Amino acid sequence: MRWKALAKRRDAGGPLKLENEKQLLRNYYAGLRMESPNGGYLMLLGLRQGDAGDSVGIFECSASSLRYEIVIPKATRGERTKVRAAIDDGQDPDCPRHGRGTRLVRAAGDLVCMSCGLAYAKAS
Ligand SMILES: [Zn+2]
Repeated sequence: MRWKALAKRRDAGGPLKLENEKQLLRNYYAGLRMESPNGGYLMLLGLRQGDAGDSVGIFECSASSLRYEIVIPKATRGERTKVRAAIDDGQDPDCPRHGRGTRLVRAAGDLVCMSCGLAYAKAS
């Protein structure tokens, strides 16, 4: 099982970690399928708040039902600047990662992408 090496358990019974997170996240932001190490695809189950402004996506493999977690890094200064500029331009900003058509929504005083689980700006 060569794929087994890609998944290491973070804690017993908890979601597994993936070592190709960056590639998977690129697909996730692009709306492409995310291949699971077990065959099948990773499907988003939910997002939770991570440490230090990160968010953590919990994904389930469609073939094995194993669960994986992927840390979605917090908004960068450049992304925040881009979103702020769109707001100042009078536009409804899109998620800087998910792109056109994925609108940021107001939640608890922030403008949040529901697919990233991240705040990209303060709601004004
Ligand atoms: Zn997003």
